[in-house]
Amino acid sequence: MRLIIATENRGKMREIKKILRGIKIKTVSLADLDRTFSIKETGRTFGANAYKKAKVVSRYYPDDLVVGEDSGLEVFSLDNRPGVFSRRYSGEQATDEKNNRKLLEELEHCNKRLRGAQYTCAIAAVKNGKLLFACEGNLSGIIGSTPKGRGGFGYDPVFYLARYKKTVAQLPLREKNKISHRARGFKKFKKFLARYLKTA
Ligand code: IMP
Repeated sequence: MRLIIATENRGKMREIKKILRGIKIKTVSLADLDRTFSIKETGRTFGANAYKKAKVVSRYYPDDLVVGEDSGLEVFSLDNRPGVFSRRYSGEQATDEKNNRKLLEELEHCNKRLRGAQYTCAIAAVKNGKLLFACEGNLSGIIGSTPKGRGGFGYDPVFYLARYKKTVAQLPLREKNKISHRARGFKKFKKFLARYLKTA
């Protein structure tokens, strides 16, 4: 049995492998498989998308444990937008820069109290079509008024952490990887995996 992480994103894969270090299971990503997948993220929640990714891949690899992951940003005063549309928030030709600009424009007249937000990472583990485990990891912050920092990706330049007095893009990657929504989610998954491997 292998662990298949249903992502082609090498950066995420590196991050996830680091968190799962110490667990004895061969871990691969979609980029390592000979089959190609086009999985449409049509769910209304991160959890639904994570589950869908894992379930589709599990159909082709029923003997492996498949993990789906979906993540994004929710701004509370915007009714939790951009949510599952985080990547394409500013349209089909979206870039990180355009997405951030749109977000800052939408919040232009909002004071700090209306700028509360969270990153969420949903994780679902499926074996032979069955959901075995699901969880979420979160990171809370405030949307700043101007982008700051060059690290990270996505909304990191506008995602301000009061505790550090920095945006996530101003944090060293090592630091981000300790506290991120993905790190928090995959640490929970790691505990499940350790237990599961004892019984599987
Ligand atoms: P996906 O999970 O790869 O579909 O990511 C969805 C989108 O959410 C990304 O394109 C980013 O816009 C946003 N996002 C997810 N995780 C992060 C993060 O760690 N920092 C900044 N933006 C993120």
